[in-house]
Amino acid sequence: MKHLLSDRVVNMAESETLKMAQMARDLKALGHDVISLSLGEPDFDTPESIKAAAWEALKAGITKYTPVPGLPELREAIAQKLREENKLNYVSSQIVVSNGAKQSISNICQAMLNPGDEVIVFAPYWVSYFEIIKLAGGTPVIISGDIETEYKVTARQLKNAITDKTKLVLFSSPCNPTGTVFNREDLESYAEVLRKHPDIYIISDEIYEYIVFGEEHISIGSLEGMIDQTITVNGFSKSYSMTGWRLGYMAAPDFIAKACIKIQGQFTSGANSFSQKAGVYAIQHGKAEALVMRDAFARRRDLVIRLLEEIPGIKVNHPEGAFYVFPDVSALYGKSSEGTVIKTADDFCDLLMSKAYVGLVAGSAFGAPDCFRLSYAASDAQLIEAISRMKRMVEGLR
Ligand code: PMP
Ligand code: GLU
Repeated sequence: MKHLLSDRVVNMAESETLKMAQMARDLKALGHDVISLSLGEPDFDTPESIKAAAWEALKAGITKYTPVPGLPELREAIAQKLREENKLNYVSSQIVVSNGAKQSISNICQAMLNPGDEVIVFAPYWVSYFEIIKLAGGTPVIISGDIETEYKVTARQLKNAITDKTKLVLFSSPCNPTGTVFNREDLESYAEVLRKHPDIYIISDEIYEYIVFGEEHISIGSLEGMIDQTITVNGFSKSYSMTGWRLGYMAAPDFIAKACIKIQGQFTSGANSFSQKAGVYAIQHGKAEALVMRDAFARRRDLVIRLLEEIPGIKVNHPEGAFYVFPDVSALYGKSSEGTVIKTADDFCDLLMSKAYVGLVAGSAFGAPDCFRLSYAASDAQLIEAISRMKRMVEGLR
């Protein structure tokens, strides 16, 4: 049947995060005691007050199509938030609300890329970036940071990767999968390079903005002269634990916002009506609850790092944001369990799933094949049990 499908889909990799999460669900359904730390999804319920705002909207009959770029009051609330909290001088006509930040990134790539256009992507990168770029006809150009420097790429790497085909630069901060937060100095060093190329646009994915522990979150678009070169992407999934509501947004120079509205108008139309009403409430009143969740993540980060550092052969990074750690397991290569030799982090993750029923995502999906991603958006008890299973497995390797 393969020939009946488009080359586009045949050449596309499945989302590894969603695949691993489904594998965990399937094994659980078979009765196995699986602990899944694979999906990047807060384990908290959406705050009650946000749910109540959606319920009020439903009762008021807000159940119809909405304008393609979003309800005017939501676009205005977002523009105000970006101006006040992020020092990003956007107005509401520059905001496009979508069915999640994933769609925002996809809209931008569809709106901006021609075949052969290059997108510089900072690795380790979020799984979907690569396929979204390819689907739009673009070529991802990967530059990688490593664990010794908390996975930060350097300005020199960025400078060296630029060609006359470069159209976009894409990164997330706080970063999925590493949890790294780019500080002002890092961002300033990237901005210094990019100011010399005013026709290159940055997609700054800030969906984990509220989940920062020590560092202050800085938007690259707020740096001197960068607003006209920056497309800021954000959403409600992570900050307010609203993954199922499918609500995200972007803010961009006018011509890019208009192009994205055109694309979205032909593909999916405006985002869910009552989710948008809940979104207005979340932006205006939800921050305190978001920060309570952030504090829980900070505590769990410390727990997870402490426990992982007790396992020989696992090198752990010390992230300042999001809810992931991204350890390196290359020191375990060559060791084996009952005849299965670990040659890659994929092998390590497969072994952990089959022997100990702990689900992770291997780093190859994120452009870092020696690592794995562990999402600590799970209870303390689950984290303690999962890491002790990992420890037992590693101690049993020969
Ligand atoms: N960007 C990053 C870095 C993410 O981790 C996610 C997670 N889903 C998204 C974008 C997309 O989020 P959503 O579509 O749920 O808004
Ligand atoms: N972004 C989350 C993750 O990385 C959710 C799953 C997805 O959309 O890929 O796990």
